Order: sequence, then structure tokens, then C-alpha cells
Amino acid sequence: MKKYHLETYGCEMNKAESAAMETTLREHGWEKSAEEEAQLILLNTCTVRATAENRAWNRINQLAARKKERSFTLAVVGCMAEQYKRAIQKRAPGVDYVLGTFQKQSLGLMLDVIAAGQKIDIAEETPKYVFSANHHEPGAFRSFVPIMHGCNNFCTYCIVPYVRGRETSRNPEDIIREIKRMEDIGVREITLLGQNVNSYHWERGDEILDFPGLLRLISESLRERRRDPASGSNPRLQEQRIGWLRFLTSHPKDLSPALVEVLKNDPIFCKHVHLPVQSGSNRILAAMNRKYTREQYLSLVESLRASMPDITLSSDILVGFPGETDEDLEETLDLIRRVRFSYAFMYYFNARAGTPAASMPNPIADKVKKQRLARVITLQKEITSELMRERLGAIDEVLIEDVSRRSSKEVLARTARDEMVVFPASPTRVGQFAHVRLVAISGNTFRGKEA
Ligand code: SF4
Repeated sequence: MKKYHLETYGCEMNKAESAAMETTLREHGWEKSAEEEAQLILLNTCTVRATAENRAWNRINQLAARKKERSFTLAVVGCMAEQYKRAIQKRAPGVDYVLGTFQKQSLGLMLDVIAAGQKIDIAEETPKYVFSANHHEPGAFRSFVPIMHGCNNFCTYCIVPYVRGRETSRNPEDIIREIKRMEDIGVREITLLGQNVNSYHWERGDEILDFPGLLRLISESLRERRRDPASGSNPRLQEQRIGWLRFLTSHPKDLSPALVEVLKNDPIFCKHVHLPVQSGSNRILAAMNRKYTREQYLSLVESLRASMPDITLSSDILVGFPGETDEDLEETLDLIRRVRFSYAFMYYFNARAGTPAASMPNPIADKVKKQRLARVITLQKEITSELMRERLGAIDEVLIEDVSRRSSKEVLARTARDEMVVFPASPTRVGQFAHVRLVAISGNTFRGKEA
């Protein structure tokens, strides 16, 4: 069999698209391998942050240089490919193929061309697609289903609308079909993906389906399935059903009261929302074009917690935006203290070429950005630890994800609130739900005992 090696950078959407590409590779007779044995090496790249992009450039250059030692095909895929197109090959001539975000579905064509010993210019000769169809690794029981693509928000620091295009929502029937297919092969947890899932929008005749409507439709169609006598006679489906649904990412400006109601009333939805705030300063939020104020964000948090006292919230925080003052940073720290996120992804600003923020005045010195980020990280770590200590003794449902890396007698599991737990159990339990008591803390992970 022909062998491939795929490396993925960046967000969950990229990971989902890599899973889809792996399906295509398998269908074309390719087998996963270590880099040294691969005849085809693919890098699925990210350009959202300078650090991810620099890592990918280093890797591209390293692999392109390695082609002097042995022969293989090198393909650069994803957001960097979309952003730089053939400039990638100018900078690293060892790159054979560049497949932008909208051309990932042309992978099959590329594989046919490689098999035939030919070469074409994918960037020129292939159509552009928005969605690829298949997003599942065999044997996995957590999976990602894209429901929309692109973004219309144009936050001034973000490259996504330029490399992933405008928002396009996916046909709900396709989404539901894909979720049912996943359930049939043993998937227990689905994460619905989009750059901003809250602005999902599907029109059919006079009907408009929004994101809360889509969630209700998915949940109802799964319930319907359990009631269906045909499904009832299938013990595998009864046993291996989807128990949890999550979604990622929610823009605060679009999280509606209707969505809060759906989350509150339907137990299939995990009570965890990733709600990127980015800054606690109204001045900076306006400069970022986030379209909400800190007061609106805090009131959204209040309404989520009033409806679901147990809900956990996580966030993205960006410090060192051009013009950010010490007072702005204090407002961000204050907001973090008020909300008490369970965790946050924290970054300092790095200009992305082509975005409005790249040419904004008053850039912040690197040293200051790093100091500010360190303060944010220290505070968030304290809050995460406090929240974890408050949870000790609680009993919660978990989905067992894997065998623990430290011991084959332990498993690694996740709660619906997105907390990691290690506890003693047989590896055969992987993929099952269980109830555990949280008994101790080790770093960012709980240690548990089956309850
Ligand atoms: S909402 Fe803003 S940060 Fe998120 S993908 Fe769209 S433009 Fe980027």
C-alpha cells in the first residue's frame, strides 16, 4: 500500500477537515505511516496566528530540504495554502502541491494524478467547494460535524474571513444524515463546528432555520430514531447512541435567548459554552470590531448562569491589541475575575498581514505584550485551580476517551462541562459513559473513582 503522513495545525475545523482528508486517502488506497516511510506528506496549515504560521513555514522548509535525501510528494493544504497560494512554492520549491481551504476536496483528484505519475496545477485546474462530506476516523467515538463555513464578522485582527470566505450554512438534512451515520458506527459525542455557529441560517421556501432551530431538529431526529421500531430492534444502536452534543464556536453577539432555552431544556446538549470575549475593555472591543460591549457580555453570562447554574464557560483572550493601555488590561483582568472562566486560550496580538489591525497605530512593544499576557495567564490559572477545588467530591457523568498515558489500568475521560478526569478502569471501557466522583487534582486534570 502507498503510505502517507499528515500533520495538522490550528483549529478544530482543520482537525475535522484532516479527518475528512484521511478518509479520502484511505479510499484511494493510502495507509497512514511515520514521516520517514511516507511517499506523500501533507501539512494542513493554519494562518490565524503568527506562531502557527511560523511553525508551519519551518516544517515546510525542513521537509522541502529533506527531499534532497529521499523522494516523496509534499503537499501544503489549508489556510496558508489559501492565503499564499503559489508563493509557497516560490519560497519552498520542494512543495509539489498547494491546496487552498476551498480545494481540500480536490485531494482525490490530486491522488489520482500522483497514482498516474503525472502532475497538475491544482490551484488553477480544480473547482472550489465549501464542504467536504466525511469527517470521521474509524474507531473514534467523538466526532466533529461542520455545520457552516466562513465568517462575516471581520474582527479587525482576524484573517479567517479572508482565507475561509463568507458564511455558508450547510443543508440541515445533510447534517442530520451525517450525524445518524456517525451514530451507526458507534460515535457517542458530536461537536457541531463553525467559525460562528450562532449565525447558522438556512432558508427553505418561507421557512428559516436558525441555530437554536437546528439544534432542536438534530435532537428531535435522534429521539425519533430511538422511538422508531426499526431502530429499536437494533441493539447496537440502542447501546451505542450519541449521548452528548456540543458546538464550537459561539460569537457572543449572536448567542440568543432561544439558544439559552434549548441548552437549558435538552439534556443532550453539554452544559459548556466556549464564548470568546477577547478583551474586557469597551474601547478595545470596538477597535476589534467585536460588536458587543463588556456590559453586554457580562449580562449574557448572567443570563446563561441564571438559566443553568452549573454551566461552565471558557474563552479566548487577546492582549496587546494596538492602543491597549494598562487601564484596558485592568478591565480585561476585572472581567476575567467576574466571569471566572473554567479555562481560556490566551494570546498576545501579532499582526496578520491584510487585516485592518495590522496597520493600526500605537502597536504595543513585545516586552509589554508578554508581561500583560503573563498577568492574564497567572490570574486565569488561579481561577481554574479555585474552580477545580470547588468541584472536589462531586459525582458527574463522563465519557471515557482513551487509556491513560501513564497507566494501562487507568482511563482518561471528559465531563460534559469539559473537565478531564483520570480514573481506574479497564481499557475495554473506552467509548462508554460512566459516573465518577472527583477525588483529587493533578495539574489540570481530576483524579476520579467510579461512583
Ligand atoms: S468571529 Fe471574528 S475572530 Fe471569529 S472567525 Fe470571524 S472574524 Fe475571526
